[in-house]
Amino acid sequence: MRNNSDKTPVFQCQQCGECCAGKGGIYATRDEVAAMAGFLGLSEEDFLFHYVEESPMGPRLGTADGACVFVEDNRCRVHPVKPRICREWPFLAPLLQYPEELEYAKGACPGIDPDCSHEEFVSAVRGQGKP
Ligand code: SF4
Ligand code: SF4
Repeated sequence: MRNNSDKTPVFQCQQCGECCAGKGGIYATRDEVAAMAGFLGLSEEDFLFHYVEESPMGPRLGTADGACVFVEDNRCRVHPVKPRICREWPFLAPLLQYPEELEYAKGACPGIDPDCSHEEFVSAVRGQGKP
């Protein structure tokens, strides 16, 4: 738990690239596929062929050497149109709902303040006008 005068954000990305390491798999909706394909100047068919793999939970971005195919020098090649899960991390529903998910995520993402409580984490999102 942080003290009341601590105004540092509960999350500040450290650009470590860990979340692009592809461990959990990045799932993309049809609209997201279309956006990424358009951004790269590819047809959706070509995009799916080159960058997407099927999985039991649906299509997900492929990996190369264990990392997302779009990570390059710790940067995202499709940043402006990256999937929602990438844009919203770490403020995802499971972390907002379950304190244990937040604690688990703290171990994986050095950008999340390890001292922030679940209440502070959720409040930070509400402060941004998100649900
Ligand atoms: S793991 Fe966290 S700190 Fe590292 S790049 Fe991803 S969001 Fe940023
Ligand atoms: S799409 Fe971009 S932000 Fe998302 S995992 Fe791949 S490289 Fe990282």
